[in-house]
Amino acid sequence: GPTPGEDMNHASPAPASPGLRPHTARLYDYFLGGKTNYGVDRKLATEALSLYPNTMVAARHNRAFMHRVVRYLGREAGLCQFLDIGTGIPTEPNLHQVAQREHPEARVVYSDNDPIVLAHARALMTGSPEGATDYVEADVRDPELILEHAGRTLDFDRPVALSLIALMHFVGDADDPFGIVRRLVDALPSGSALALSHATLELDPGLQKVADAYGRQGLEVRLRDHEQVLGFFSGLELVEPGLVATCDWRPELDDSPQDADMVDRSEVGVWAALGIKP
Ligand code: SAH
Repeated sequence: GPTPGEDMNHASPAPASPGLRPHTARLYDYFLGGKTNYGVDRKLATEALSLYPNTMVAARHNRAFMHRVVRYLGREAGLCQFLDIGTGIPTEPNLHQVAQREHPEARVVYSDNDPIVLAHARALMTGSPEGATDYVEADVRDPELILEHAGRTLDFDRPVALSLIALMHFVGDADDPFGIVRRLVDALPSGSALALSHATLELDPGLQKVADAYGRQGLEVRLRDHEQVLGFFSGLELVEPGLVATCDWRPELDDSPQDADMVDRSEVGVWAALGIKP
């Protein structure tokens, strides 16, 4: 057996955390190069990466779409109220930072169902003095709770931008994803917007391997095709260029050279669009 000397060369095992399961927010954090993740997350993340090396590219382009669409909403649509559901672990710049750069008075309500996001919510609440940010820990499958809480910070008589970015592929068909989005959009006045991105197999069927790896750990991923994702925008008018791969949605709005990297459509794996409520 090992001598005591050999033992001392071994790293101490991580403290046991019985029942700790990987979570989508911490996996996404890992793919973006963040540090807010545990061993169980990194194990599944590395498995996903070995099955599908484009996962990091896909995450980075999804995040860059969020930056551009929020910039567009502030700059071109003049919106300064945001309801962001499925916020994720804070990663600079966060949505309120992009929005408040356009309009310092922008008001942002964040929502996520992973308690770890709440633990970092202070980083989400450091807005401009003129603006406001708030956070509600809730599941998107309870839209009424989110709307009620958001009404404390946002004025629902004026247009609101709802962002559901890389969220709805975590809501299975049994939970009525289209009904959930309709209930949220119904609560918003004319001139409001829906920014949504959603993973798909149509850009690269290889993404199924990631969905399967997540599924083996009990994380449901429901990949949807172009026509199904368009269903989330029912009753809304799509802004040009419509529902496209994240990298193709108004790339001219990128402000960092890194985001302007040429990328192949097949690498980004996610459809993205912006709809306006007539
Ligand atoms: N919107 C961010 C983060 C996307 S990662 C971005 O695009 O950069 C997906 C996020 O959705 C994670 O933070 C995860 O915790 C959250 N999420 C997953 N299922 C959810 C649910 N049912 N309700 C609310 N949030 C959920």
